[in-house]
Amino acid sequence: MSCQNAMPPDGPIANQSGASQTVAVRPRMLRTREELMAYDPEREPWAQQLSRRYTHHSQLAGILEHVEDVPEGLYSMFNFRVTPYMAQLMDPIDPSCPIRRQYLPTGNELVIRSYEVRDSLAEDNSIGEPGSPVVHRYPQRVLFLVQNTCGAYCRYCTRKRMVSDADAAITGHAIDAGIRYIASHREIEDVLLSGGDPLILSDKKLDAILARLRAEAPHVRLLRIGSRLPVQLPTRITEELCELLSRHDVQMLNLHINHPKEITPLLVRRLAMLRRAGVMLGNQSVLLRGVNDSVAIQRELCMRLVEIGVRPYYVYSNDSAQGNWQFTVPLAEMTEIARGLRGWISGPAVPTFVVDGTGGLGKMPVLPAYVMQDGETGEVWATNYEGQRSRQRNLEQPANLQLCERS
Ligand code: SF4
Repeated sequence: MSCQNAMPPDGPIANQSGASQTVAVRPRMLRTREELMAYDPEREPWAQQLSRRYTHHSQLAGILEHVEDVPEGLYSMFNFRVTPYMAQLMDPIDPSCPIRRQYLPTGNELVIRSYEVRDSLAEDNSIGEPGSPVVHRYPQRVLFLVQNTCGAYCRYCTRKRMVSDADAAITGHAIDAGIRYIASHREIEDVLLSGGDPLILSDKKLDAILARLRAEAPHVRLLRIGSRLPVQLPTRITEELCELLSRHDVQMLNLHINHPKEITPLLVRRLAMLRRAGVMLGNQSVLLRGVNDSVAIQRELCMRLVEIGVRPYYVYSNDSAQGNWQFTVPLAEMTEIARGLRGWISGPAVPTFVVDGTGGLGKMPVLPAYVMQDGETGEVWATNYEGQRSRQRNLEQPANLQLCERS
């Protein structure tokens, strides 16, 4: 893999709406804590903020204490990017800050466990057609990978095999092939644009992809975008983007918010723009050791999400991509955290915990057993969220059931 280390995000610097325009001077990195905290992300177009990203861990030395000095070899496995906005959210002193944990590399990433593989979900084997970046695993829905870079790189990324890798850049020809594949498979009803991060694309490129999908694949009933960029760079949500999504009837934006600390007033204001544009908002998070692996954090996260109009949707187990083991929460703990939500917070705030099966099995729910049948007696017992039990006689099948014959 060859990773770019100080590249511009998506060609020339763009203006607020994403339209390209060349400017003479690239915005510079904010090197001191004073500069960083004085910076107002709402006063600069989003694409220019990408040019201010930190691209090497050593660049954080002036703004954070106790930054681990990781080996350079780590950069050949997975790149490093942090937006100024994310850096503002990081605790300046505490390395266990949940935002720092998600974005700052550690030497542990170079330790690969025997079960960790490059493509743990076998997505490369589920590509619908060679050359098209469409993962077709379920009968009627597909994942359309339209971009392989992101606003910032999460250390636990499932797709680190391709994300940030210059050699794996998704070309215009590949996108053409993807659209052709979706257009020619009329069974596809649900398309999720993913990557990398689709919203890294300029409005112009996004507009072109969405327009072609709507024109050439009228059988697609649900068009969704999965993006973490609103969390990493909320000003990516502009009036122009909202108009574009609304015009192409993109029904849903799947966000990726892992911790309540990521829900800032700026993010809330920008998400409200999407809601006004008629875009449903859902959240898919990852259960991560040292970030959100407690009932208290998950309860607060899920309630905060519904409070701002975002439906918590899935909580994924951490996938076994290489070097990810340090974030993994075992199944028993995951199940107990799931048990700690149902009944304890509002029903619409309760997400489904899932395991994305190694080798490409797809998503499978992790469900604490609330209703069980005794294999010997046939008795059915239900247990509520507080552990109280009752027998459900109405759900048992009597052995001597007499059926009436119809005359
Ligand atoms: S935003 Fe998503 S695709 Fe990008 S690095 Fe993070 S987890 Fe990976």
